[in-house]
Amino acid sequence: MGGLIPASDDQGLGEGYHSPQVSVQVRLNTNESPYPPPRAFVDALTEAVATLPLHRYPDRRATALRAALAELHGVGPDQVFAGNGSNEVLQVLLSTYGGPGRTIAVFEPTYALHAHIARLTRTKVVVGERHPDFTLDLGEVKRVLSEARPEITFLCSPNNPTGGAESAATVAEVLDLAPGLLVVDEAYGQFAPWSALQLVADGVGLAVVRTYSKTWSMAAARLGYLVGPAPLVCELEQRALPYHLDALKQAAGRLALEYRAEMEARVALLTDERARLAAGLAALAVEAWPSDANFILFRPLARDGAEVWRELVERSVLVRNCSSWARLEGCLRVTVGTREENDAFLAALAEVLS
Ligand code: PMP
Repeated sequence: MGGLIPASDDQGLGEGYHSPQVSVQVRLNTNESPYPPPRAFVDALTEAVATLPLHRYPDRRATALRAALAELHGVGPDQVFAGNGSNEVLQVLLSTYGGPGRTIAVFEPTYALHAHIARLTRTKVVVGERHPDFTLDLGEVKRVLSEARPEITFLCSPNNPTGGAESAATVAEVLDLAPGLLVVDEAYGQFAPWSALQLVADGVGLAVVRTYSKTWSMAAARLGYLVGPAPLVCELEQRALPYHLDALKQAAGRLALEYRAEMEARVALLTDERARLAAGLAALAVEAWPSDANFILFRPLARDGAEVWRELVERSVLVRNCSSWARLEGCLRVTVGTREENDAFLAALAEVLS
């Protein structure tokens, strides 16, 4: 391998996007569901796996999974593209519509992988700024989109890591302004009061990306999908690797949708816990931002963020350390966990800040 230099060497990609997987008792750093999937789902999946023809390649078009997702969202199966996590969906999207000579727009701070995957695909990234309170600045959106004319505009709603969801009026306005495709990343969409999915239609330049990793309690299964115009989905299908979605995952994704009521009950539980966590943070010496997701961004007022992070780890509590990220100086992000985990986090944080 001597002398072989990765092609991304000049792209400022650093070490990629990873959260350290430290061994702790309370893990609240990667926005997963704190609950394992329902037992009945695991049993049904076990049974389904036993009958899968594992010696054969999977259904390349993921017909049953896409049909089930289409039914869930009231769209056609030809408007659904599934991938190995929504990150892979974004990668296929950017390798299809991005690339040298193409541009995307993001509004920072937002989900780092939009810009990161764009750069990996040699797509130019233009960055717009949010208001100081992290809400979207529509004047800035207008300026950036009219100057850069990006092929793809990204929104993340609710926005990771700041937590706020965009309103229907805001998304409609950005859709109007975007010269190319608008992608709304709804990885945390189930926690938000509305979804841009209702705006998706053939002939509308909008794609909505979702994941099984959060509310469906299936982060380990690596499954995500996009809902968008059928011609766009057709292009993505052609760019994805053959048989990229294995048969086990297809079965898991389809079966999970039969447990929607359980998933919605978990969302309700976590939304209640989010309110409790926000109230707990409000009583401490931190600034915390309102969240429509399953995490809360906060900044210790009188203490260094990285130090607080370290002292939480010493108490076996792991949160996301955003303190060195641009525009998020001193900030930490905590995932909403179980009642016990949230209590343990709040108690540890109170101790660290006392
Ligand atoms: N989009 C957003 C906004 C996220 O926060 C994440 C997970 N961190 C993803 C996409 C990727 O999720 P996955 O690849 O697990 O579907």
